[in-house]
Amino acid sequence: MSAVNLLDFDLDGLAAFCEQLGEKRFRATQLFRWIHQRGASDFDQMSDLAKSLRAKLAGQADIRGLPIISEHVSSDGTVKWLFDVGAGNAVETVFIPEDDRGTLCVSSQAGCAVGCRFCSTGHQGFSRNLSTGEILAQLWHAEHALRARLQTSDRVISNVVMMGMGEPLQNYGALVPALRVMLDDHGYGLSRRRVTVSTSGVVPMIDRLRDDCPVALAVSLHASNDALRDELVPINRKYPIDELLDACVRYLDKAPRDFVTFEYCMLDGVNDSDEHARQLLNLVRGRISCKFNLIPFNPFPASGLRRSSSARVQAFAKILVDGGIVTTVRKTRGDDIDAACGQLAGEVQDRTHVRERMTRGPIPIRPA
Ligand code: SAH
Ligand code: SF4
Repeated sequence: MSAVNLLDFDLDGLAAFCEQLGEKRFRATQLFRWIHQRGASDFDQMSDLAKSLRAKLAGQADIRGLPIISEHVSSDGTVKWLFDVGAGNAVETVFIPEDDRGTLCVSSQAGCAVGCRFCSTGHQGFSRNLSTGEILAQLWHAEHALRARLQTSDRVISNVVMMGMGEPLQNYGALVPALRVMLDDHGYGLSRRRVTVSTSGVVPMIDRLRDDCPVALAVSLHASNDALRDELVPINRKYPIDELLDACVRYLDKAPRDFVTFEYCMLDGVNDSDEHARQLLNLVRGRISCKFNLIPFNPFPASGLRRSSSARVQAFAKILVDGGIVTTVRKTRGDDIDAACGQLAGEVQDRTHVRERMTRGPIPIRPA
């Protein structure tokens, strides 16, 4: 029988596991704090747990992170890890430091079944869901590796965005316990406002998330009408824009923030005209409290798409802002290590290539 990975549990799950071992809940809390707050992976480190309990744990459980294929540090401080999730699959995690926060971009699946036109993960297809432990292993490793590197015992990661590879709401069962650990005061203690689930619009799961574990919500809109969105974000054929916006309005009843963020990837000549911007205004004005985040498209060869010019992005943003909608343009970070949105799968796509790189050592960092 393989050992139970304790990274797979939220605190209630760990308490239930400890109960089976005849241990009280406060022992589970101690254990949980060792794992997530101290980054322990070895029961022997847990000096305030009875030796007998440590021995019992060692017999049936472990704290199993993900093997690291590579780690790259960008000239702007962005760090990208590539983790091995077995059977030739890898997922990426990116840390983005800013003056007032440290954001970790976390993956939820190996590949993605939604198949958005402009996303290299989508082009790669779906391999499998990550487990709760595999989602949390990304945060667990990043937080404690960064603390060690920065020689601090203070928290380094203040924000988590589920914007890595995969559609988090198509891996709901594993996602929610992982979110609970992120929010738990005995875990990472992140505020609900600082944990963001980004979705392409899985409407029924937006409702469930609102009831089970409301955190900040970002919705990948990318189009101003159904015909265009059907092409760019194929899940729109199942859950069209109107239904999606209604779900967003319902979500705001319980959301920790009083707005939804709409992400909009700017594609040259596809979704970036003045008319598209005006259509967006008509969709959202007076209906939903929202902000727009315009994302410069990160091109990859198979997409056949181009990034909108910055003048176009600015003109588009101006129409939204003049229409009363708070709009930001996302800075691209970690460009020199291919850590920007939608590039995450780049190295994974061609698995032989990953292998080759692994045997050759770290991928050289290109100058910025
Ligand atoms: N599946 C979820 C979360 C992961 S994608 C979702 O779609 O929301 C995270 C964000 O990166 C999404 O807004 C997505 O549309 C955007 N993205 C994907 N590919 C991109 C690319 N090539 N350039 C810029 N943004 C991209
Ligand atoms: Fe999947 Fe999100 Fe990429 Fe679409 S943008 S294919 S939903 S990861």
